[in-house]
Amino acid sequence: MGIRGTTGTGFRYTCESESFWSVPISPRSADDKLKGPFPTLLSAVNASIADPRILLDSVLLPDDGGIAIAQGIRDRCAQIVSDGSFQDEAPIGSSGTSGIHVHAGIATTDPCEAVNWVPGTAREQSAYRSELAGACGALAIVAIFVQFFEIEDGGVTLALDGESALKQCQGTWPLSVDQKSFDILQDIRARVASLPIKVSWKWVEGHQDDHACISTLDWWGRTNVCVDSLAKSYMWDCTEFRPTKKHKPQQLLFEKWALEIHGVKQSSVTRDDLYVTLFGTRTLEFWHKRDKVPLDPNAICWEESQLAIRRLPFGLHRWRGKFLTNCSGFALTLQTWQYQESSACPLCNLPEENRDHLLQCPDPRATEQFRKSFAPIPALLKKLETSPPLTDAIMDILRRFRFKATDYSSCFFYG
Ligand SMILES: [Zn+2]
Repeated sequence: MGIRGTTGTGFRYTCESESFWSVPISPRSADDKLKGPFPTLLSAVNASIADPRILLDSVLLPDDGGIAIAQGIRDRCAQIVSDGSFQDEAPIGSSGTSGIHVHAGIATTDPCEAVNWVPGTAREQSAYRSELAGACGALAIVAIFVQFFEIEDGGVTLALDGESALKQCQGTWPLSVDQKSFDILQDIRARVASLPIKVSWKWVEGHQDDHACISTLDWWGRTNVCVDSLAKSYMWDCTEFRPTKKHKPQQLLFEKWALEIHGVKQSSVTRDDLYVTLFGTRTLEFWHKRDKVPLDPNAICWEESQLAIRRLPFGLHRWRGKFLTNCSGFALTLQTWQYQESSACPLCNLPEENRDHLLQCPDPRATEQFRKSFAPIPALLKKLETSPPLTDAIMDILRRFRFKATDYSSCFFYG
């Protein structure tokens, strides 16, 4: 892997394969449009809505032009509730939206209301991510008010109903690049640090109206119900009523850097995704050539194999890898390593004893051992509640492998 060159917005890296990824730095020159000064609060809001790096799709300003909320922020009594909506089976795939209410204080009835569509691929969407996107949009609104009304001191309280999202938002520990929604969290943490006011976080129980009349709930509970319904209604709007939205991985304003794989910005950077991108094809080609492992990764039972390997004792776990790669004490291996002169099988004396020979050795003693080891397997599979057709298939594969029938590889499990 080496540096291929640089662009105006970041670095590009490449490796020997076609895999390609880059690390763009947020294009700060575009920030000028957000700097103002703006003649009205509405124009300031519109500048943020027009910038895809800011998670605000639509904002409804209060009738007083935001004066009460600005004062509420100065007086440290402004209260915000945001909530996310997540739909796993939306027509365009898993999707997320958020709803936000910013109030001057508890007694107010004219909030600033906003919604957003959660960025990222369908695979990256989750209830957690929608919750974070709501908090991110809420902080973006606060930033607009702070900037427009030139607020230098004050505070807001922001309430979420998702405990894990809340914990990550209010934390001060370093974020990990591989944690879920690292991108939005990076933006949230940087936004909080950049504001001249104090941001306090609060947990509010979600869906309290499921088991109580809304009029009996406290202000936080009632507002949570409102923003929950706002986010849901925007979800319906985006996915059913006017289905114009598409999944869009997007680098956020305060996201200092981001990683793209094949042109798709990642919401976090995981070792597995990087490995698959950089070495996946080469690895599959190597094992296909060497062991007929299917080239199509979808034809391999990854999850089942992982589960099966984890059940093995640690010693067997290590041994299995060595055995499968011919790095155990086979005669051919020992000869290659110059531990002995002959590669002949100690039972049948055929040359080049390796893993496959060990399992397929024609010596009658090996055949007898196979029958002994083979016999108890159906009972074991029954005990493990394996479905009978699968049991039959496994036994058939083992039998055919032992007696060198071909075409067993497509149904093998790999670790
Ligand atoms: Zn042999």
